[in-house]
Amino acid sequence: MAKLNLIAGEWVSGSSEIENRNPANPEDIVGIYTRGTASDVNDAVSAAAVAFPDWADASPQFRADILDRAGQIILSRHTEIGRILSREEGKTLAEAMGETIRAGHLFKFFAGEALRLAGDSIASIRSGVDVEVTREPLGVVGLITPWNFPIAIPAWKTAPALAYGNTVVLKPAEQTPACAHIMAEILHEAGCPPGVFNLVMGPGSVIGDAMVNHPNVAAISFTGSEGVGQRIADGCARLRKKVQLEMGGKNPMVVMGDADLDVAVPACINGAFYSTGQRCTASSRLIVEANIHDTFVERMQTAMNDLVLGNPLDSTTQIGPVVSEGQLRNNMGYVELAQSEGAEIVGGKHLDQPGFFQSPALFLNATNSMRSSREEIFGPCASVIKADGFEHALALANDTNFGLSSGICTTSLRHARNFKRSSEAGMVMVNLPTAGVDYHVPFGGRKGSSFGSREQGRYAVEFYTSLKTAYTFAG
Ligand code: NAD
Repeated sequence: MAKLNLIAGEWVSGSSEIENRNPANPEDIVGIYTRGTASDVNDAVSAAAVAFPDWADASPQFRADILDRAGQIILSRHTEIGRILSREEGKTLAEAMGETIRAGHLFKFFAGEALRLAGDSIASIRSGVDVEVTREPLGVVGLITPWNFPIAIPAWKTAPALAYGNTVVLKPAEQTPACAHIMAEILHEAGCPPGVFNLVMGPGSVIGDAMVNHPNVAAISFTGSEGVGQRIADGCARLRKKVQLEMGGKNPMVVMGDADLDVAVPACINGAFYSTGQRCTASSRLIVEANIHDTFVERMQTAMNDLVLGNPLDSTTQIGPVVSEGQLRNNMGYVELAQSEGAEIVGGKHLDQPGFFQSPALFLNATNSMRSSREEIFGPCASVIKADGFEHALALANDTNFGLSSGICTTSLRHARNFKRSSEAGMVMVNLPTAGVDYHVPFGGRKGSSFGSREQGRYAVEFYTSLKTAYTFAG
């Protein structure tokens, strides 16, 4: 029996079904999920619009309690949800449980934020007049999410949207509907009133497009690829909708000659290869000062040989499969491209076993102008680029169309400080992997990586509310 969409508090079937299969073992069917239609989007948006006034006017305590309960249920079920996440996406069980716990914490954090929505009271320049600045919810918001964090990203959009009084239509990625469906069940169980949270699963070109073009959807928050993000931005601009885009990355990790390699090598292995490199914050360009380059590469190769690839549900596994056959083909295409561009390839082999497995890859002697160093691959592949000193490394790090995350490994306070101040990325790490962030602080980037205000932490309020300035003359 297929798992259904949640519309107006009812479980509703779409027009067809899709099988959700395990990328580590395509024989393993995680579940069967309904595929909605544009008419389901209309129904979901209508339900969300009807639910909006009461939800927006509800006591913040009421909203906080529901979000807190949802967070608590997610935390208490993190082992079971983590297993399903690992089976549908392919990340290791430890990573999947960690992601689920993060989703639980996000709901609990925004439960608190529902109670802390603040405004300003400012003296007017006119005597006898008071000025108040308050924040109000937007209305129905559409959330469109990718496959690589199938519970954390739906949670980090849904929790603030609901906390600040909006109603929601969520469309998760087609490759990973299971976790979003579980989150919908949990919100329902936690007491979310009918229509406040709606789930419509199905293809982006149908469901996502209908959400973007629906006149009663006030805003779209999107995470995914650059091409789809651009299309959504164009649609939202035409309808003058508020839009927030989180897209790709080609994140640099600089390793200075003064770096502690016991810190730098694990940070690069983690940043480039964990979660099978399928993180928008992955380190895909390792920019290494020439005087340490050969030692660094040798240490990286030793560490790569020790990585355990395999079934992500095994507790010893460190690297699982890539998400799909198409993604594996994409990655192998970039390995060939890097070779044809003159890089020397370490690893990067398609493994001859069931599932979509490849060994992690380094592209040695890469230059920053190669296509393989400029385009997002979204797999466990990293270019190694030599730099002559700090200024050159910084220039290479910033020479990219993206600007999500960046990192430097160094023992020099001066280099660390200069890098933090001069990096053109939204998030900067010192002696830490470029991936792996806290849930209670802003997340997002610059240049081609992001558009609109930041997600997560207290800054999420910028996107999910609209300001009102009220003037009162008491007479
Ligand atoms: P994608 O762009 O293919 O899909 C993302 C979502 O958009 C999916 O739900 C998809 O169904 C939907 N979609 C597709 N076509 C659409 C359309 N025409 N209109 C509306 N919606 C549409 O991305 P993906 O392959 O799921 O995810 C991988 C990408 O996501 C990578 O580029 C990665 O860098 C990016 N990503 C970014 C962040 C970040 O925060 N910056 C986080 C995770 C992933």
